[in-house]
Amino acid sequence: MAKKLFFGLILCFIAFSIVFYVQKKPELVSHQTSDSSAMISSSETRDNETTSTSEKPIYPGRADDWELLVVNEKHKIKEEPTDLKELPNGMQIDSRIFDSYEALNKAAKKAGFDLTIISAYRSVAEQESIVARDTQSYLDQGFSEEESKKRAMEYLTVPGLSEHHTGLAMDVLEEDWYNDGNMLEEEFGETKAGKWLDENVCHYGFVIRYQKGKEKITGINYEPWHIRYVGKENAEYMKDHDLVLEEYVEQIKK
Ligand SMILES: [Zn+2]
Repeated sequence: MAKKLFFGLILCFIAFSIVFYVQKKPELVSHQTSDSSAMISSSETRDNETTSTSEKPIYPGRADDWELLVVNEKHKIKEEPTDLKELPNGMQIDSRIFDSYEALNKAAKKAGFDLTIISAYRSVAEQESIVARDTQSYLDQGFSEEESKKRAMEYLTVPGLSEHHTGLAMDVLEEDWYNDGNMLEEEFGETKAGKWLDENVCHYGFVIRYQKGKEKITGINYEPWHIRYVGKENAEYMKDHDLVLEEYVEQIKK
């Protein structure tokens, strides 16, 4: 009796093995023929397939769109904007983003925040004259030419490498915060207005350009006041996926 049961079990096992082999075989063969490196195990092949057939995300923008222009410590501005529009405070921005800023300003007001623009478009020539002026003040104090330049540059961006040259960036604060004697300080990000900006600028086409934790990528410390126009869909995508401009453009290019 025990013998019969034993043989029965063996037969079952053999039958099961044959069925399993027949089912499995076509899959292995198809993987091997579709991949030139036939020695890859089936699980590895499956992983590769997932990566190669997974669709590339559809990005709203293209890397060479004007809204996605990257100017940073590695990318000098090539062409300065020519079509600028004056803001009520006399500063200028690229005319193409004027309406978007107006909409943002209006929405902020509705939410209870009066925005004030500290800085907008700055030409390369203007930046050069600021560097020259500050260097001169150190020269006047008796420092050597090299030392004077070094000291001046501690607080200034190299002309040509500032995003403010694009006309697409602005430094924005809340009026009460500013009137209380505060300037461009990190703590602004913790205020109600700073938090509102962080949450909402994307709906008007802007991003908080220099994010905390992304300093190595942007080359700039966290600046909760520096907003940059990238277009509404790009801005919302970047916000949703926690990407700074450098990362976003890099992903689109891939
Ligand atoms: Zn700025």
